[in-house]
Amino acid sequence: MTIENYVKTGKIAAEVREMVRVKDWVGKTVYEICEEVENEIRKRGAKCAFPVNASINEIAAHYTAEPNDPITIKDTDLVKIDLGAQIDGYIADTAVTVCYDAQFDGLVQAAEEALGSAMSMIKTGVKASDIGRTIETTIKQMGFKPIANLSGHSLEQYTIHAGKSIPNIWSIGGFSLSENTAYACEPFVTTEQGGGFVRNGKIKNIFAINSRKKTKNDEADKLLNFIWENFNMLPFALRWITKEWEEKEARELLDILIKKKAVQAYPVLIEVNEQRVAQAEHTFIPNESGVTVTTKALE
Ligand code: MN
Ligand code: MN
Repeated sequence: MTIENYVKTGKIAAEVREMVRVKDWVGKTVYEICEEVENEIRKRGAKCAFPVNASINEIAAHYTAEPNDPITIKDTDLVKIDLGAQIDGYIADTAVTVCYDAQFDGLVQAAEEALGSAMSMIKTGVKASDIGRTIETTIKQMGFKPIANLSGHSLEQYTIHAGKSIPNIWSIGGFSLSENTAYACEPFVTTEQGGGFVRNGKIKNIFAINSRKKTKNDEADKLLNFIWENFNMLPFALRWITKEWEEKEARELLDILIKKKAVQAYPVLIEVNEQRVAQAEHTFIPNESGVTVTTKALE
């Protein structure tokens, strides 16, 4: 692994995230948001590591726009925009919560504070469980709840979730951070009325290859090849294949690939008490004396 690759991708993701943070998205559809943010990533010379997630209110994560998705952002909504850039498979994963209702500013601040306090303690050898404790303590001191069953993760080339988890609560055991390994830290915060957990929802609109085994359906195999060539094992959305296939046919072929277990579909994640959720996320690489936050905002 070369840190330079991660830093280069991180800078692109950070620039796009800061653009997302200051923009007024009220009145825009989630389709417009996802397409615009993805194009900002591509314009800067990176590919998308996954479809931009635009998860509204009690949906914590894993919602991306359907083709021409009409869901429109209201001035009372709180939206987590989670974006990923990659160059040669080196990934930058970062997120910001936008909110135009002052009532929820505290929730957004708690996610940012928790992320900040986690970043300030990082160096090689720090225990993931201690990061989790810092995140949990920061959030609770501000009067909110962490989401216990969502966590950060290690990253590898072309792999977003590479096996290690960075918890958002204190937990027993776990591992210590390695030098020159990339990780993402992503506190999710809900209100005191929240359950502090997410459950799977019915909607599934993010997909990834599971296996490249042939399906005996020529057109489905052609789609599987297209997915492999364009997205490798990384997640993709239906929007990303409807330039090559008509939407109806794309859905049918994707269903075949899912039934044959060649492709996996990820459900949206919803707060169990349907309370609002805020998120903040950085990608970072620990070192002896501290940390390189690859997605840090430029001064
Ligand atoms: Mn993310
Ligand atoms: Mn992540």
